Amino acid sequence: MKLCRFNDGRYGLVQGEQLWDVSPVLAPAVASGALFTELVRLTPAITDHAARAPAQLLSAVHLLSPVPRPGKIVAAPVNYINHLIEVKQSSEIHHGVQIEEIQRIGLFLKAPSSLIGPADQINLRFPDRRTDHEVELAVVIGKRANRVTREKALDHVAGYSIGLDITLRGPEERSFRKSIDTYTVIGPWIVTPEEFGDPGDANLSLSVNGQPRQDANTRDLILSVPALIEYASTFYTLEPGDILLTGTPEGVGPIAPGDMISAAIDRIGIMNIGVAAP
Ligand code: MN
Repeated sequence: MKLCRFNDGRYGLVQGEQLWDVSPVLAPAVASGALFTELVRLTPAITDHAARAPAQLLSAVHLLSPVPRPGKIVAAPVNYINHLIEVKQSSEIHHGVQIEEIQRIGLFLKAPSSLIGPADQINLRFPDRRTDHEVELAVVIGKRANRVTREKALDHVAGYSIGLDITLRGPEERSFRKSIDTYTVIGPWIVTPEEFGDPGDANLSLSVNGQPRQDANTRDLILSVPALIEYASTFYTLEPGDILLTGTPEGVGPIAPGDMISAAIDRIGIMNIGVAAP
């Protein structure tokens, strides 16, 4: 099942180029803050309701982040070998900031206030400084996870989305540079685990103005999705609606006002978003 959030905060079941407004079915779960915990149980009611609702065109709605207000956004710093190599080779990327394998430096947090959806736009806050795109598989937590093992980790996932971890390059702390307003994009919808399948085998790619920049597969993650959930939940209790950004592969590069970013992940779809001046 693909579930989007659109317009003034409505929820839609997505199929192909269409969606069906299923907000009435989800309203009690949304009101009690249990939407992501209840998604599997609600799936039959969602599809029933959609069968009786009028179809709308995806192109005619404003897509919001499928998660409105995550409690936290946990992100992996350097989690693909080829990206680690490119970062170490370029001082314009690393700026002397500690760059080591993820097992040594751990994860970091992005401010939830940085989050936008695809109908919004990335506002470059410091256009005179290098700012990069990073496409990442995003994982939405569906069940509280505290010290879970990797074997049990995927039981705690509500679904998957495309994530952009927009990054101001420079010497400051990661969380500071990556938490600027509009510098986290999640969308275009959430795909539930039964439809998404194996998070360890999904192509992810990104182009800017039609020019390919990033193209990789999640099988090359240093810490897989289950290992990341295990690792993150060793430090924090992951709550339903929390987002885990799994790290970006090689091919990161600068963006500028006027650019159009197009990011794609297998079995999720394509997310387009524009870049604007401050
Ligand atoms: Mn990243």
